[in-house]
Amino acid sequence: MKNTFHVNTRLIGLIGHPIKHTYSPFIHNVTVQLKNMDYIYLPFDVPPANLKNAVKGMVALGIKGFNVTIPHKENIIHLMNNVSEEATIIGSVNTVVNELGKLTGYNTDVNGILETLNPYKEQITGQEICVVGAGGAARAVIYCLVRYFKPKLIHVINRTEQRAEALKNYFSDKMKFNSFKAHELFPPELVDIFGNSKLIVNASSVGMFPENDDVITTLTKSFVKNQIVFDLVYNPAKTRLIQLAAGEGAITLDGIKMLVHQAAKSFELWTGEQMPIENIYKSLKLFISD
Ligand code: NAP
Repeated sequence: MKNTFHVNTRLIGLIGHPIKHTYSPFIHNVTVQLKNMDYIYLPFDVPPANLKNAVKGMVALGIKGFNVTIPHKENIIHLMNNVSEEATIIGSVNTVVNELGKLTGYNTDVNGILETLNPYKEQITGQEICVVGAGGAARAVIYCLVRYFKPKLIHVINRTEQRAEALKNYFSDKMKFNSFKAHELFPPELVDIFGNSKLIVNASSVGMFPENDDVITTLTKSFVKNQIVFDLVYNPAKTRLIQLAAGEGAITLDGIKMLVHQAAKSFELWTGEQMPIENIYKSLKLFISD
């Protein structure tokens, strides 16, 4: 990391609360270093009560843009001057661009999800799919699946069944897609549903550090050969879900590629520059395994 920051150095960053285990400063600061750009990316821990003032402060200080993470992704929408189409439908913003004091909110998780799943588009399109989770990440996944993969049926599975039900109703209304079933995350009753799905996506935080031993199901009959299993969790990269599914011959996709691609899109929105994706992906894998 360079140690000379001066009057022209542009600030980009992240707001969330609490901020822990984020790889975004690594991704963006290595990028600006590789590209010899005069930017710095800093994380800011902003409790919900300070969100409005923090955003005002960002504008007052002329900050170029910032990422948004839990718990602000939904509430920040009301503080934007403009919201992109995908962020409006998903109801969640993870990237804000400041142009002369006017703030626009985007959801670049969509780019990360598409880059991860697009190589499997033929296998996924028109098939039965399971999405576990009902938070912001699950909403971005469902938006992408409905919009770009035209599935036959999406099973929305969540610990709190009412939230799965609410999400099903939300997307039926917003995207006029009605082929959903909502379920409680109760593994013994889901074995056949998981096993008959071409794609299983874990968009819940189950298995995330420090709960590395947690998994959405330990029943190995839930996984079959050549099924695609995508775990959005990126810390650890090799979650227990990825290990169990790989053991049954499934094609497994971890959350790192999504993480790098959502960051690349944010970086492009802030700076107009491309992130050296392959370099960053390799550096991040090394950084994580340290
Ligand atoms: P969120 O809004 O807080 O939602 C969390 C979800 O996980 C909820 O559906 C919650 O169920 C479920 N959950 C939490 N603990 C659980 C447990 N012990 N057992 C069962 N279900 C549990 O979070 P989010 O923003 O959607 O993020 C979800 C995950 O995606 C996180 O691990 C995050 O790091 C990851 N993510 C990855 C990327 C990437 O680039 N790879 C990008 C975005 C997010 P309830 O509704 O019952 O509470």
